[in-house]
Amino acid sequence: MSLQGQTWVVTGASRGIGRALALELARAGANVVLGARGAQALEAVAQECRALGVQARAVPGDAASDQTAQFLVKAAKVIGNFAGFVHNAGVLHPGPALWELSEAQFDEVFGANVKAAFQLARYAYPNLVRQGGGVAVFVGSGAASRNVPGWGAYGAAKAAEHYLAFQLAAEEPKVTCFVYSPGTVDTDMQRQGREAPGPIAAMFQGFLEQGRLRSPEETARALVRLLQNEPRRFHGRIATYADA
Ligand code: NAP
Repeated sequence: MSLQGQTWVVTGASRGIGRALALELARAGANVVLGARGAQALEAVAQECRALGVQARAVPGDAASDQTAQFLVKAAKVIGNFAGFVHNAGVLHPGPALWELSEAQFDEVFGANVKAAFQLARYAYPNLVRQGGGVAVFVGSGAASRNVPGWGAYGAAKAAEHYLAFQLAAEEPKVTCFVYSPGTVDTDMQRQGREAPGPIAAMFQGFLEQGRLRSPEETARALVRLLQNEPRRFHGRIATYADA
């Protein structure tokens, strides 16, 4: 499937995997609507995408808010040919045991990973269903099914995000919906893991030392290949880097 001329919403697009994905989509000829809280970094990515010859719009704001989700989808409709979204925004807050997290940290993790997934679905699905179909991707994690001391809220949030994706797949066959598990990727999130208090830092340090980190560009390219190559086969399932 060619992505040329389609319009995609990508959350968490100011750095890391989301930034690489925005650029990879733009290289494939897709227009992009980009979300993240930090406006300056987000606009810089939008400019990089425009330099590749596509339309790109930065919509700064907390992805967990109703208004941000509404604006992201509206911007995609204004550009036209809205094809789908990749909910990639995420927060880890590694280190403290679950009971040591502050309420604000817990809310931030669930806001970025889970509530934002719900908000985007609330506004994108009615449009995608009305136009006869589309694609919804949720960037998930192996943390959803593995209890590692120090990533309690993140793992619980990723498990909830996976569930939401599978639920949407069960409820709406017109929209192809799947989880993309990107592997261990060399981003700020990994750096935060290495700098975390407690034993989890050693695990993240190990990923680096064992050469297990792939670049954001590699994993973004893999996801774009999946989107171009019968994404329907992953409906209601987890697609991984290896699948591409
Ligand atoms: P990252 O480098 O920390 O980037 C996170 C992105 O999400 C940033 O653009 C950040 O921008 C945005 N963001 C965070 N909270 C947000 C919110 N409430 N509203 C809007 N945007 C928000 O992380 P990454 O490693 O690229 O991770 C991207 C996704 O991959 C996440 O869902 C993560 O869970 C998943 N993942 C990563 C790895 C890995 O090894 N890196 C492994 C498995 C899964 P602002 O801070 O400006 O908002």
